[in-house]
Amino acid sequence: MGLGMRIGALVTAVALLWVALVAEVLAASDVRGVRLWRAPDNTRLVFDLSGPVQHNVFTLVAPDRIVIDVSDARLATGFEQLSLTNTPITGIRSAQRSANELRVVIDLSAPVMPKSFSLAPNQQYGHRLVVDLFDQGSAPPAAAPGVTASSPPIPVTPTQPPPKVTPVPSGKRDIVIAIDAGHGGEDPGALSPVKGQYEKHVTLAIAKELQRQINAEKGFRGELVRTGDYFIPLRKRTEIARKKGADLFVSIHADAAPRSSAFGASVYALSERGATSETARWLADAENQSDLIGGAGNVSLDDKDKMLAGVLLDLSMTASLASSLNVGQKVLSNMGSITPLHKRRVEQAGFMVLKSPDIPSILVETGFISNPNEARKLHTASHQQALARSITTGVKQFFHENPPPGTYVAWLRDEGKIALGPREHVVSSGESLALIAQRYQISLASLRSANNLKSDVIKVGQKLQIPATALASQQ
Ligand SMILES: [Zn+2]
Repeated sequence: MGLGMRIGALVTAVALLWVALVAEVLAASDVRGVRLWRAPDNTRLVFDLSGPVQHNVFTLVAPDRIVIDVSDARLATGFEQLSLTNTPITGIRSAQRSANELRVVIDLSAPVMPKSFSLAPNQQYGHRLVVDLFDQGSAPPAAAPGVTASSPPIPVTPTQPPPKVTPVPSGKRDIVIAIDAGHGGEDPGALSPVKGQYEKHVTLAIAKELQRQINAEKGFRGELVRTGDYFIPLRKRTEIARKKGADLFVSIHADAAPRSSAFGASVYALSERGATSETARWLADAENQSDLIGGAGNVSLDDKDKMLAGVLLDLSMTASLASSLNVGQKVLSNMGSITPLHKRRVEQAGFMVLKSPDIPSILVETGFISNPNEARKLHTASHQQALARSITTGVKQFFHENPPPGTYVAWLRDEGKIALGPREHVVSSGESLALIAQRYQISLASLRSANNLKSDVIKVGQKLQIPATALASQQ
């Protein structure tokens, strides 16, 4: 081989190597930012990336560390701005192991269980790498059945939902209201025209006020599903409610409307068959994006729907939906006296977060944050209090009429110690006037006179006015 040819081969080899290097460098993604969210049982780190990456997470002990190796990535940000307060993280270090291999080391004060996944870009964010560090003693959420290839197949027969916390027999337990502040952490919800504020801030403020008011009512207890600024996947929210033994699930929102001129509060219940209006459908679609925005790992919505389809065949769904519509209408009526209503009836759509077969569940849109007028009100403490008050009143009215057995409120009702306001009853088949009077614990004569009835003949679908009842002690 002549010298010229050898030089030629060398030049070609160098050129190829250079092309390969350039291609590799071009393919590398930048880590442009890092966010940290602390939840009660886990710490979430979110790396914002300029493109997709491959990664590997492993644990080291003595001292406890988590190592995240990210290939084809370079660090273009620092970690100094992250607040590590209340987290098991004592420090975060990084090293560029080669031109395109980034290593991030997380120093820990206690061992954690890591779970990591990548998220594709959406309307709010670009490519993300999410690393959840679960505190010791708290298990990372298991993937839903039928979601991943390795999990068991979807059950063919409907399965019973896990039993709720059983009430103390013949006790006077509290009625538990699970209060779910919509969005949080990685999922900010709708953007407020007030600078730096999002729907997630408004919903948490109203939820906390609602809890305060409910706890002030004897016989009731409010439990927050989300207590701070962190993300909870939709299905985990209903799980938390069930674990707390909830009798009712109330999800608080203040979404943006498709049109910025839209205004008014509204209340939603689940629909398994389509939506009652375009706005209802639009909102349900927007809400159901939460897992994709906030990052629920590999749990896709379609798969969850399939999984839930089996569970939802349970008949208790029908009963809880009737209760949801009932309590929703009471909340809506009370809200109508403090804020304009978007719709006067409870609307229905396929909201993922309302899919609890055995817990009545409503979603309260306290107003549209996209409407500048409404947004301004939603940020004031007085309006938040008024909104919470109308929800509390509606919830109380519902449970005074329908107290779960074994509760303090059921005991009050049985003792004749609950005064109820006038109500309307729609006659269904098989009901007699005497039966209805007994059910509402009023006399037949007062039921007759409230409705100007000359005989006891009633028709299915007939609307009866149920007169207010007085306290037993005042009779
Ligand atoms: Zn929302």
